[in-house]
Amino acid sequence: MKLITTPTILDELRNRPSKQRADMLLSTGRILEESPDSHLTTQIEEAARRTGDLNIMSDTDIQLLALALTREVAGDTVVVVSSDLAVLNTAEELGLAFLDPHKRMKNKIIWMRKCPACGHAERKISQVEECPICGTVMIRVPAKRKPVHSSE
Ligand SMILES: [Zn+2]
Repeated sequence: MKLITTPTILDELRNRPSKQRADMLLSTGRILEESPDSHLTTQIEEAARRTGDLNIMSDTDIQLLALALTREVAGDTVVVVSSDLAVLNTAEELGLAFLDPHKRMKNKIIWMRKCPACGHAERKISQVEECPICGTVMIRVPAKRKPVHSSE
């Protein structure tokens, strides 16, 4: 099994106490650094928009999923390893296998926004966070759940 990650994630690791570990893994060839096909980031964004995760995902999250898709398109068998539920949810939407080390990912969720004041609901999560009816900041609530299984 090969471990592959993006340059942006390695940069994050290098700025943490785990820096030495990242360098060690790289030097022993146990982890490889690769950039995703930039065309595929659009597909990731579209999938994350469908699930309602896009607004809370970082560029690093999108790069990681784009890398997984890049390898899958190239014919590799890929498992996305992340403890970030938005990343795992989007991986499921893309049909990518995933591994959640903390086993918190139990359901794939399609999110919607709901206004806690007047109850107005928006099926599509847009950049607008305020309720168009009363102006209260809306919250993210699950519209649909589907049980999913993490790889072992
Ligand atoms: Zn409202």
